[in-house]
Amino acid sequence: MAHINDSGVNVAVLGATGQVGMVMRSILAEHKFPVKDLRFLASAHSAGTVLQWEGTDITDITVEDVAQADLSGIDIAIFSAGGGTSKKWAPRFAEAGAYVVDNSSAWRMDEDVPLVVSEVNPEDLDVIPKRIVANPNCSTMAIMPEMKVLNDHFGLRRLVASTYQAVSGSGRNGVLQLKNETQTAIDQGADKLVFDGSAIDFPQPTKVVRTIAFNVVPFIGDIVDDGSEETDEEQKLRNESRKILHLPNLLASCTCVRVPVFTAHGMSVNAEFEKDVTPDDARKVLATAPGVVLADIPTPQMAAGTDPSYVGRIRQDQAVEGKKGLALFITNDNLRKGAALNAVNIAQIIAEKHFGVKTPELSSSNSSASAPSASKIQA
Ligand code: NAP
Repeated sequence: MAHINDSGVNVAVLGATGQVGMVMRSILAEHKFPVKDLRFLASAHSAGTVLQWEGTDITDITVEDVAQADLSGIDIAIFSAGGGTSKKWAPRFAEAGAYVVDNSSAWRMDEDVPLVVSEVNPEDLDVIPKRIVANPNCSTMAIMPEMKVLNDHFGLRRLVASTYQAVSGSGRNGVLQLKNETQTAIDQGADKLVFDGSAIDFPQPTKVVRTIAFNVVPFIGDIVDDGSEETDEEQKLRNESRKILHLPNLLASCTCVRVPVFTAHGMSVNAEFEKDVTPDDARKVLATAPGVVLADIPTPQMAAGTDPSYVGRIRQDQAVEGKKGLALFITNDNLRKGAALNAVNIAQIIAEKHFGVKTPELSSSNSSASAPSASKIQA
């Protein structure tokens, strides 16, 4: 534990050594989160590692093994350590008095657990019955800020999405798989793949279920045993969008695809509305949406390392009669807003609502001010 300030809240990060945990540590510092005491936890594997936290001063913090840790005195615990770890530890932290903000899918569909995107449904944090709050899936997160304002103005009826998901979304092992396979292909003459998909002797996949270098893989998660033949990742978009937008009857279908990109997911979205909406109407309301930036060509490289959800290529959906359909493309950093940033935004709201601790950066992080201006069109 490190004492940072005399006021603020006591914060713990479980999974502090992982990819999301690493981004979480920097966002807590960047957003000047009002930290009193700060603790980093992980498994026995990395207990004892010393991590530097660059808040007001640079502070060394020793990682604790969660299984050996004293859980008392924590106000807010932010988890990014997988679903199994969260199922086991979230109730124990909550029982010890902490509010838990969880990044995994373990609690998202629990009726007594708010599922929150900070710009979209912060009011759902007024009451937190189990002291546990869930952070949505990273693809759902990417499109919620846009869908919220479009729904408010035009009434969202139906969503069809195809994802272009980066390998870091599957943890650091996905990143290593893409790196190793790419190196293998370069070493053996990658352009042989132009005429023969079997020309390179790739290693066995270690995380993504098929070779991901110079390929796309339309399979993320596990097939759900309900006859739908969808994966659980594909069902998350429907189930989580309904809960976050308070639209229990929203029609939604998703195809999840892993692509050879390190970080930032892309989403091709076709959305149908109750009212007529033109691309210009949509651009006008999206320009005012917190957390959203309009872009001519929103790419993952543009999004990686930044906070906003970028939206562009907005067209009338020609497969929907009249002017009730839009087609658009969204990109967003899956490790930042898709995971760590939204979790910190939720923690900021909890600090204000439940501890009366002011967070100076909250208003800017919940608008586009922490990102390029919403009205600025980026190529
Ligand atoms: P990661 O890089 O593989 O890191 C996993 C972290 O969890 C490490 O700190 C690890 O600690 C810790 N951990 C694993 N098992 C543990 C256990 N039994 N007890 C305590 N700590 C344990 O994975 P990640 O990409 O950061 O993702 C972490 C979580 O965030 C997952 O729940 C994932 O679903 C969620 N998430 C990820 C993304 C994304 O884009 N990657 C987006 C949204 C949500 P050690 O160092 O000790 O092994």
